[in-house]
Amino acid sequence: MKFIVLGASAAYAGPGEACSGYLIEEGNTRILLDCGTGVVSNLFNWLDPCKLNAMVISHLHPDHFLDIYPLRYYYQFDATVPSFSLRTLAPDKSSDFLGSILSDSSKKEFAKFFRFEDINDKISYKFNDFELRFKKVKHCEPTYAIAINGKKRLVYSADTGYSEGLVEFTEGADAFICEATLQEAHAGAQVDHLTAKQAAMVARKGGVKKLFLTHIWPGCDGQVSLKEAKEVYDGEVILLSANKLFEI
Ligand SMILES: [Zn+2]
Repeated sequence: MKFIVLGASAAYAGPGEACSGYLIEEGNTRILLDCGTGVVSNLFNWLDPCKLNAMVISHLHPDHFLDIYPLRYYYQFDATVPSFSLRTLAPDKSSDFLGSILSDSSKKEFAKFFRFEDINDKISYKFNDFELRFKKVKHCEPTYAIAINGKKRLVYSADTGYSEGLVEFTEGADAFICEATLQEAHAGAQVDHLTAKQAAMVARKGGVKKLFLTHIWPGCDGQVSLKEAKEVYDGEVILLSANKLFEI
């Protein structure tokens, strides 16, 4: 299994970066996890978007979905596969929410290119070589962490505060892509996000094999996040940035 980082910034894209987006691949199976600001431009570096099997939107914050609009124009005007339509797993009512800024005619066009399905965290989803499972996490919008089980197990935290439920969900992960929006300087802030230290705590308690820190606030020095995480977690910790490929 491999994953490619398409964007790793929180909230807004820092210089040369993009917001949340990860391409997960094994054999002929390719899943796009989140589609934040700037993700589609980076996706073209790696893959024709008509080769995606599915897209998952973890929650309805712009840094996780905004590039669905440019992706629609690619599918509408330049798709290499006629009438391509992407299976899109997302929280309830995402189709209505995302269509709400479009005119009536544009909304109809938009709906042709994305086949929305509400995420159900009680079932698993099969995509060729992958099985996907979801876990609702602690965030201000309905938000789902995602586990992808193939030859390896990859878990993505999405955006979340600390919870034991998240720890349980990470168990057995070969790779854990975890948000670390904050640092110790912000510890105690009343927001549903993790500090790098808390991300490392989740990784340690869950016994994950490798921790990948992401969703760092653009104004924060990622090296500080890395240092703070390493104080808590003994395994390998890697700081993510756009257009990097990892084999797991
Ligand atoms: Zn976010």
